Amino acid sequence: MEHIVTTIIFIAVFSIFIGGGIWAYRNEKRYWNNGHCECGEPWECFGNDSSNARGYHCLNPRHEHPPNLWVSYPGIDTTWSERKWIKTLKT
Ligand SMILES: [Zn+2]
Repeated sequence: MEHIVTTIIFIAVFSIFIGGGIWAYRNEKRYWNNGHCECGEPWECFGNDSSNARGYHCLNPRHEHPPNLWVSYPGIDTTWSERKWIKTLKT
């Protein structure tokens, strides 16, 4: 009986992990908004962090506090070839 409980807990933790990943991906994708801030201005890339997430900010002076966006999943902001291009641009 005990191993069934362990299996259920394992499946539950696993689904939370997968579900959390999908949720985070969808969140980034929605916030990315096809490359545009909610104000309509395109995101401006300002660099990568150590985990290779791409940092973006909006330069529209309408914002009191410029919004930041960190994209960590591939395929949201760039294709793989474009990512390589951004990397060479920053070094
Ligand atoms: Zn904006």
